[in-house]
Amino acid sequence: MEYYWGNTRRFHSLADYYKQRYGTRLQKVSVHAGFTCPNRDGTKGTGGCTFCNNRGFNPSYCHDEDSVSTQLEKGLRFLKRRYSRAKRFVAYFQAYSNTYDELEVLKERYGQALKHPEISGLSIGTRPDCVNDETLDYLAELAKKYIISIEYGVESCYDDTLIRINRGHTFSDSVDAIKRTAERGLHTGIHIIIGLPGESRKQMLQQSQIISQLPVHSIKFHQLQIVKDTQMALEYASNPDVFDFFEPDEYIDFMVKFLERLRPDIAVERFAGEVPPQYNLRKSWQGLRSDQMIIMIEKELELRNTWQGKYYN
Ligand code: SF4
Repeated sequence: MEYYWGNTRRFHSLADYYKQRYGTRLQKVSVHAGFTCPNRDGTKGTGGCTFCNNRGFNPSYCHDEDSVSTQLEKGLRFLKRRYSRAKRFVAYFQAYSNTYDELEVLKERYGQALKHPEISGLSIGTRPDCVNDETLDYLAELAKKYIISIEYGVESCYDDTLIRINRGHTFSDSVDAIKRTAERGLHTGIHIIIGLPGESRKQMLQQSQIISQLPVHSIKFHQLQIVKDTQMALEYASNPDVFDFFEPDEYIDFMVKFLERLRPDIAVERFAGEVPPQYNLRKSWQGLRSDQMIIMIEKELELRNTWQGKYYN
C-alpha cells in the first residue's frame, strides 16, 4: 500500500521528503557559529534551560574556535566517510540560538557557510522568541536561491512545563514564530522533548493533535535524557521520583500512537536523540542507536497494521 507521502513506508520520513523535494539525500553538517542565547546572557535568564549543556549536543567535529569554513571542511570529511550516499549538504547552525544577533552579523555568518562550494543551503536552529520579521524576510529572500529551513526548539506545548524547565518563552511564542515562518514559505521544523517532568503520558500524546494544527513541515523528537552538568542533573540527583522515564518498549508504543494522530504531511526527522555516553547520566538506553529505534518503530507500525495519520482528522 502506498501512503499519503507517496511510498510504502508507514511514516513520512524527512529523508523521503528531501528526496521528493530536492531529488536527493540531504545531509546536515553542523557548525557552531559563535552565537549565544538570551536564556544565558541575561536577556531572558542566566541559567539556561534546565536540560541544556551544549557540549553534550554538538558533534565532535564542531568547535567554535574553528572558522565556519574549517568546521564545514571537517564535517564534510566526517559525513562523507559515514554516509557515502550523501550528495548534497546544508550547513546546520545548531549550537545555541542562531538568529540571536543583528541582521548584519547573521548575514555575515550565514554567508560564510553559503560561500562553500559544497553547501546548498542552511538549516537554522533557534528559539521561537528569537526571530524577528526582518530576519525572516531576509531568509525568505535567501530561500529563492538556497535550501533554507528553520528549526524551533518548541520542547513542549504546555506553559507549565516551559516554566518548569526554565525555557523563558511560552507556547504562544512558538505558535507565533511557526506561523510567521511558514507564511513566508520557509521550511518550518520543530523539536519536541518527550518525557519532561510534570507532564502526564496523556498530555504528551495530546501534543500530536496540537502540533498537527500548526503549519509545521517537520518534527524532531528527543526522549528526555539527563545530561551532565545541567540544572536537570541536579534536580534528578536530589529528587529522582519526579522523573518518569520512557524505557525503549514504552517509547515505541508511545511513538506509534503519536504518529497515528500526527498530520500525515509532517515529516519526521528523528525519533530519538543520542547524547554522547560521557554526558549521559542515565544509562538505560545505553547502546541503542537512533537508527535502531527507527527500525523498531517501523516494525511495530507493521505489526499493528497502522501508519502516520491513521487517526488524524
Ligand atoms: S536549549 Fe537553547 S535556548 Fe535553552 S539554554 Fe540551551 S541554547 Fe539556550
